[in-house]
Amino acid sequence: LSDRLTATFKNLRHKGRLTESDINATIRDIRLALLDADVALPVVKQFTSAIRERALGAEVSQALNPAQQVVKIVNEELVAILGGQTRSLQLAKNPPTVIMLAGLQGSGKTTLAGKLGKWLKDQGHTPLLVAADLQRPNAVTQLEVVGERAGVPVYAPERGNMGGHDAVLESGEGTRSFGDPVAVSRQGIEQARARQHDVVIVDTAGRLAVDANLMQQAADIRAAISPDEVLFVIDAMIGQAAVETAQAFQEGVDFTGVVLSKLDGDARGGAALSVASITGRPIMFSSIGESVKDFEVFHPDRMASRILDMGDVLTLIEQAEKAFDRAQAAEMQRKFLAEEDFTFDDFLNQMAAIKKMGSLKSMLGMMPGMGQMRAQLDNLDEREFDRVEAMVRSMTPFERTHPKQINGSRRARIAKGSGVQVSEVNSLLERFTDAQKMMKQLARGGGIPGMPGMPG
Ligand code: GDP
Ligand code: MG
Repeated sequence: LSDRLTATFKNLRHKGRLTESDINATIRDIRLALLDADVALPVVKQFTSAIRERALGAEVSQALNPAQQVVKIVNEELVAILGGQTRSLQLAKNPPTVIMLAGLQGSGKTTLAGKLGKWLKDQGHTPLLVAADLQRPNAVTQLEVVGERAGVPVYAPERGNMGGHDAVLESGEGTRSFGDPVAVSRQGIEQARARQHDVVIVDTAGRLAVDANLMQQAADIRAAISPDEVLFVIDAMIGQAAVETAQAFQEGVDFTGVVLSKLDGDARGGAALSVASITGRPIMFSSIGESVKDFEVFHPDRMASRILDMGDVLTLIEQAEKAFDRAQAAEMQRKFLAEEDFTFDDFLNQMAAIKKMGSLKSMLGMMPGMGQMRAQLDNLDEREFDRVEAMVRSMTPFERTHPKQINGSRRARIAKGSGVQVSEVNSLLERFTDAQKMMKQLARGGGIPGMPGMPG
């Protein structure tokens, strides 16, 4: 997904004004890229139509750089589909908070129980894990191992109830359980209450495919323990099956949040987009490896960047937008085109804009192809900016617009007014004349590429 969109956006960025056919071509590329990443068709349709509507609207046609504006819109819409803000866990007013895990077999529930337990414990909670996957005796053992690694206690049914043939219960057609998962869930919560655990994480069983009996079992557990959160765990690599699976769980058990697991693989984010969009439930956490620490709170904006693979470029666009007043930039552009003289007032405005952008060096570091300029800046004393500004501020309005008229006595006055040596004023005027020449050349040559507010 990323590679494809990166190429699309690269093409787009080279454009100035966008025509409707540019926008259509871009949207076609985005649609292909999303389908390629296994995003479900209805989600793709909804997404691209939202983008088209905004891209053809005023915010793009009036933008300083329409192409960048489209990229920004795509990002914003992605973040919105992924849930906008990160949602935090709903904690019960009267502990324990009960969190139930649901999902297909192999999706990563048991592993997640340990990760979530450790994460909560690190925050000062006292979680208890409950082994309510009684389809296989090994599932209980696995949770115990996971709990030990996480340093979190586990409630499991007595082994004596599990091994013997007598203990096998029929909990629906073809579904054999080693014990009653509903009863075990209830007992686990009782134990948590008795031992003052403030959070209970209930691990449940799943099949490789959606299975009516196990779905019913999960629904029964939910009904019995009324959890504060039901987290649906889904393997990010599942691809097109994500929608069907998520819908089945939403209908069968319903859930309050989603956990994306195995995001450490080369999952392309399609499942995330589909599940969040189709179910309307927020993605809350991501699992990014087999170890107990490979766990993160899910950030929609970071996932969007991962999908778009644009990294800091978006931050850069936003900073530049904030820094450059549009009207001011338009005025600069007009001056360029009219080949009018660049004055010290323009110079001051530009310096103010550059300062507003925050650390100039780090910003240039984010811009592709700006390495050389950055190296020059490394030699630049940032206080130099302040001295230059002081000198310009000591000039009269006449001097600012007529730099060539600044003679010896004016130079001495400016130096005195700004507390610098006359030689510094001389050097500033020299550099300014050079800059003016350069600006003229650029105006004829088509502008500074990549510089917001400059034609190019
Ligand atoms: P469950 O059947 O839903 O309980 O799934 P498990 O927790 O047993 O996980 C199934 C397999 O996926 C195990 O081999 C886990 O080690 C592995 N697994 C779980 N989460 C992740 C993850 O985030 N990344 C990777 N690479 N593997 C994972
Ligand atoms: Mg399991």
